[in-house]
Amino acid sequence: MTVPAGGARAVLPGDYHVHTSWSDGRGTVEEVVRRAAGLGLPEIGIAEHFTPRPGPDDDWWLRPERLADYVADVRAVAAVHDDVGVLVGLEAEYVDGQEAELERYLSAWPFEVVVLGIHVVDGFAFDDPSLRGDERWDDPDALLAAYYRTVRRACEWGRFDIIAHIDYIGLWGHRPGPRVLPEIETALDALAASGAAIELNTDRFSDPAGVMYPSVELLRAAHARGIPLTIDSDAHEAGHVGRAWSEAIGHARAAGYRETLRLSDRELVPLPA
Ligand SMILES: [Zn+2]
Ligand SMILES: [Zn+2]
Repeated sequence: MTVPAGGARAVLPGDYHVHTSWSDGRGTVEEVVRRAAGLGLPEIGIAEHFTPRPGPDDDWWLRPERLADYVADVRAVAAVHDDVGVLVGLEAEYVDGQEAELERYLSAWPFEVVVLGIHVVDGFAFDDPSLRGDERWDDPDALLAAYYRTVRRACEWGRFDIIAHIDYIGLWGHRPGPRVLPEIETALDALAASGAAIELNTDRFSDPAGVMYPSVELLRAAHARGIPLTIDSDAHEAGHVGRAWSEAIGHARAAGYRETLRLSDRELVPLPA
């Protein structure tokens, strides 16, 4: 990985959204942490998929009954690594009406990073390839608008540090029409008011639309509102930790960002040039 040399104070951004075999990733916690240290990343956040009520056969979630062992595992790896900061976290699914239930889990453990993920809108798993023919996709703008309303409600709830892949609903190539744009603006206003960061997600290699989330336009609108930024890989294997960091830094700078948020102390740190 080559990253342009920066000023004396500039540091590489940490990677706060990484999956392991505790949910649907392939690596162990030790493997992804070692990879982050090898790349010279200052911090890594392990953030497994979590929802309070996983279906019996949904194997991509970290199940609630495994939370204690998960936290203990990440803590044990963190304790033997002084070469990279290790934060224990979750990628928590926001489900309308399940806030209190999710809050009980979030407050029962000392999570250092809570990433908001939305992969389901009103019960519809929009990223499921087998549901591309579902009637919910007959009116893409209606589905996109419902998605951004869900983002807004999650931000108003305000229990997250980072909003992951905020325009993920565009993964199949649908771009927001005129009916959707006001919903995006309102969601961004709610995000700004929440104090959470927006995520630049570099996992666009597995995305049929082939773009980073979010687009430069959306990132510019976030920057204009003073929303802080993190750059995250959403890695599901060790080799993808810190992936495309140079490109992401360029994407962030193109949107106007000169700093990213360091989660361990909530400080803004300069991006490399
Ligand atoms: Zn996600
Ligand atoms: Zn993820």
